Amino acid sequence: MAHSSQFDRREFVRKSAAAVTGFSAAGSFTACAGPEAIEEAARSVGMLSRRKLPQCGREITVLIGAGSWDKAAIEAGIRCGVNYWHAVNEWQSGDVPQAILRNREAHYCQICVDRVRGNHETGDIDDEEHCRFVREAVRRTGLRYFDDMQFHFGYHSVAEVKSNPRFVRAFERLKKEGLVRHLCMSQHSYKGNSRVPDGENAAEILTAVAEQGLFEHGQFIYSYGDSPSINEFVALARRKGFGTIAMKTTRGAGRMQRDAAFMKKFPPGTTPYHALARWLTTQTELNAAVIQISSLREFVDTCSGAGKAMRASDTEAVREMTAYANREVCRLCNECLAHCERNVPIADILRFERYAVDYGARDRARRLYGALDLRADACTRCGTCTARCSQGMDIARKLARAHALLS
Ligand code: SF4
Ligand code: SF4
Repeated sequence: MAHSSQFDRREFVRKSAAAVTGFSAAGSFTACAGPEAIEEAARSVGMLSRRKLPQCGREITVLIGAGSWDKAAIEAGIRCGVNYWHAVNEWQSGDVPQAILRNREAHYCQICVDRVRGNHETGDIDDEEHCRFVREAVRRTGLRYFDDMQFHFGYHSVAEVKSNPRFVRAFERLKKEGLVRHLCMSQHSYKGNSRVPDGENAAEILTAVAEQGLFEHGQFIYSYGDSPSINEFVALARRKGFGTIAMKTTRGAGRMQRDAAFMKKFPPGTTPYHALARWLTTQTELNAAVIQISSLREFVDTCSGAGKAMRASDTEAVREMTAYANREVCRLCNECLAHCERNVPIADILRFERYAVDYGARDRARRLYGALDLRADACTRCGTCTARCSQGMDIARKLARAHALLS
């Protein structure tokens, strides 16, 4: 792996602050950070290493980018060789980076396709509607085609994997039209979800998908301190040649970084995002990971750790982050849901809380929260769910705080 320079975050921040006008009062690069700042960020990070996705053999960077990244971070990512872009359907016509449009074949652009006539729990898989959605996104973005068509949120159960061919059918139609090239999915957990009768957990569904052999790779929730079942799936996926990409990886890194008391005791010489990037790209069997990045500074902090070995300080950092996250950050496993008599959508609410608190996406989080049919104020604080939480989190307290933040 080629890295043009060793990372020193403090040094980077010092140099860049002097060189660039895009440095905000809050101490982070703004979306309009200038070309000089972007070049400096890219130089600080260097070129990211790549790994092959099994089956197709495409080489993608160990950390992939996302359509929701800060614009300056996307530009810096392109300079550092980031070549796989998740959920680019979030881009409006003017948002697509010129560097990607000019050199289209050098980038893998992924479109996320949702169920229709409802949300990820209640909606349908409908090949006609999915085709319409993809064709419109191709036209709007000007990308000409999408490399990867992703079934967003995935199947509800193993039975649905086996009995419902309509997503695969949509992919095959669009592939014949030259509008998509590869089939992939992201998978959430539906076990115990009262809105999804017979829902199963992500590892069970992903295992069935990998064994079926129609999808090339999958994204799933994965971070430090994760459950054995998903690690077993990652090992199986490797044997089956099914590609694996971790998502929702930060698990509270954003709030940790802003927690002065926590950071005061944090191991010197690293940061939560930096240690996370090292851990994800060297201590797991994943093909790649996506980390949400909200500023140019976060880009440097995070991506400069990609593919680099853990140091003692990073190991200690991940240990402390795990303890913090177990207290404060829902891992979205859905284990508690079946035990709430009020059917409060706990994991959805706490996912939106993560968007607001960790990604700084408060408007989006509020919009999603407002669209729920049942919100956190339906919680009676009975406490039943806490006994079922794999982390022993005080769920009622978390829900009350989320409601205050998002309503
Ligand atoms: S504390 Fe609230 S969320 Fe938990 S089981 Fe009781 S009502 Fe449901
Ligand atoms: S509150 Fe606990 S059990 Fe429920 S989804 Fe989050 S981590 Fe899992």
